[in-house]
Amino acid sequence: MTDCLFCKIVSGDVPAKIVRESAGTVAFRDINPQAPTHVLVIPRAHHATVADLADADPGLLAELLREAREVAVDDGVAEGGYRIVFNTGAQAGQTVFHVHAHVLGGRGLNWPPG
Ligand code: C5P
Repeated sequence: MTDCLFCKIVSGDVPAKIVRESAGTVAFRDINPQAPTHVLVIPRAHHATVADLADADPGLLAELLREAREVAVDDGVAEGGYRIVFNTGAQAGQTVFHVHAHVLGGRGLNWPPG
């Protein structure tokens, strides 16, 4: 999608601190980190929400989740524990409608979330 910010990160038209890439995904550091590790993992293909991706390409969703795990391993937060968050819809705080997994770790994380 030409007007999608995260599609532009995939194409290289918008810069990002990329930490991992796979055939179907790109992972980059969030510009406004909420934890010592805060990485977004996105599919190269445009899907608005995780629910849309689950229907359209469940294999790609599984790849994205494996990449989220590898981000946690690479950053050294896998053993201590980390959180994978998909904000889904505006009321849940989704602001970019290209599905992205937030990978958060490196500090204690409260529950329930705000
Ligand atoms: O779940 P939500 O849609 O709110 O998350 C969007 C995330 O994208 C935010 O955490 C924001 O900081 C991040 N972002 C980014 N790089 C941009 C624009 C937004 O990392 N260029």
